[in-house]
Amino acid sequence: MTDFNNTGMSKKHLHQFIGIGVAVVALLIVVIIVMAISSKPTGGPGKNPTESESEASTEALLAEKKTQLIKEADYLATTYDYDGAIALIKTWEGYAEDTDLSAKLAEYETTKASCKRVDMSTVTHIFYHSLVVDPERAFVLTNSGRGNYEWMTTIDEFNKITLEMYNRGFVIVGIHDLYRYETDENGNKKMVENDIYLPEGKKVVVLSFDDLSYYHSYDNFGYASKLLVDENGDVINEYIDAEGNKHYGAYDYVPLLDQFIEEHPDASYHGAKGTVALTGYNGILGYRTDETYSFDNLDNPAIDKNKRDWLKAHPEFTLEAERAAAKEVADAMKANGWTFASHTWGHLRVGDKSLSTLKTDNEKWQKNIAPIVGETNVIIFAHGQDLGNWGKYDLNNEKVQYFMSEGFDVFCNVDSNEYRTYFGENYLRQGRRNLDGIRFWYNLTGEQDNLSDLFDVKEIYDSTRPDYTEFP
Ligand SMILES: [Zn+2]
Repeated sequence: MTDFNNTGMSKKHLHQFIGIGVAVVALLIVVIIVMAISSKPTGGPGKNPTESESEASTEALLAEKKTQLIKEADYLATTYDYDGAIALIKTWEGYAEDTDLSAKLAEYETTKASCKRVDMSTVTHIFYHSLVVDPERAFVLTNSGRGNYEWMTTIDEFNKITLEMYNRGFVIVGIHDLYRYETDENGNKKMVENDIYLPEGKKVVVLSFDDLSYYHSYDNFGYASKLLVDENGDVINEYIDAEGNKHYGAYDYVPLLDQFIEEHPDASYHGAKGTVALTGYNGILGYRTDETYSFDNLDNPAIDKNKRDWLKAHPEFTLEAERAAAKEVADAMKANGWTFASHTWGHLRVGDKSLSTLKTDNEKWQKNIAPIVGETNVIIFAHGQDLGNWGKYDLNNEKVQYFMSEGFDVFCNVDSNEYRTYFGENYLRQGRRNLDGIRFWYNLTGEQDNLSDLFDVKEIYDSTRPDYTEFP
C-alpha cells in the first residue's frame, strides 16, 4: 500500500506561496527605499563596494522572486487556468518591460487562443463508491460479498482507470464548472451553460463518489474506516486490517486522487476533484455525526442496533467531537477541490417515497450534514432513482417543486449512457455511469460494451476478484 506523499503544488500550497510572495515584495520595497535614501550622500551608484554588494543581493532576491512567480503562473496554466496565470504575471510591477514575463504572457495567450470550447453535451460523468482495500475480505462468497463485488471497485482498479483516462486525454472538471448564473434584464437569476476551454484533443469527465460515510455495514469487509487530516494538512485514511492493526495513508479515493492530481496537475481543470454524495444516517466521512448517536438511545429499539452497539463500544463518544473532526476533514477537502452533494439522509428512492417522507429526510440532511460540509445545490439520487423521465422535468411534480424550493438545481441519476447532460430552465440534469464490478463483468463477458471509450476493461479488471458466477 502506498503511503501518502506530498509532492507537487496543491491550491493550498499555492495560496501559501502567494501569501509569502506578497510579504517578500513588501519587504523588498522597504529595503529598496531605505537603500535609495541612504545611498544619496555617498555619491554615484556602484562607487561604494558595500553598496554594490547590496544591489547585487537585491537583484538576486528579485530574480528569485520572479522565478517563483513564473512557477506559480505555469502551475495555473497547467490546470488550464490561463486567465489566472495571466493575472498573476500582471501583478509584477513593470511586467510589460520584462522580457521573461512578456514571453510568458505571450505563451499563455497563444495557448488560450488555441483552446476549443467544450461541447457540454459530450461531458461524461462517472462515479464510484469507497474502494476495496483488501479484496480477500470484500469478495467473500456470500450475499454481502456479492454486493461488494457488484457495486465496488478495488484500489488497483481505480488507480489503473485514473491513469488510463488521463493518458486518453480526459480532464476532470467539477460539476459546478458546467454552469454559471446570469441575471436577466428583469433581474432574475438564470442558470446558463458555462464556457470551458481546453486544448484540442482533451475530453471532459465529471467525477462523483457515493456514500462516503464508512457505514457500519462496511466493517470487516476490507474498506477504510475513516478520513482524517494529517500533520501536513493532507487528507488521509485510517484502515484497519484483518488482524486489527491500524494503518494511516491513502486507502480510498480521496487521498488517492489528491495524490494523482498533485503528480499530474494537468489531469484536472482548475484543480477540480470530485463531488461526494453523502447520506447521514450513519454519519459522514467515518464520523458518527448524526443526532441519533446518543447515549439516550442505548436501549431505544427504534434506533438501529448497530448504532447502539457502536455507542456501547465507544463510551468516550461525544457528538460535538465527532462533528468537529468531520468538519476538519470536510474543510480540508473543500480547500483541495472537493465538493459535496446530498444523497438523501436515508438513502431513499425519491421516485417511490412520499413527499412528506422526502421533506422529513431532507430536513435531517440540512440539520445534521449541512452545518459540517456546507449547503449544496446538488442532489445525487440514491439507487439512481430520478424524479421523472429524461429531459424536461414536470414542473407541476410536487417533489420537483419541493427540491427546487430547497435550493437544489443540479440533479444526477445513474443511466450508464456514454454522456447525458440536460440543461432545463434553471436546472441541470446529468446521467452517471457506475464503474464497478457488475459493469466490469458484463463488459468482460461481452454482454455489454459501455466502457471502451474510457479504458479496456481487460486491462483494469482486478485479477483477485473471484468469478462472478461463483457467488450464491
Ligand atoms: Zn448510494
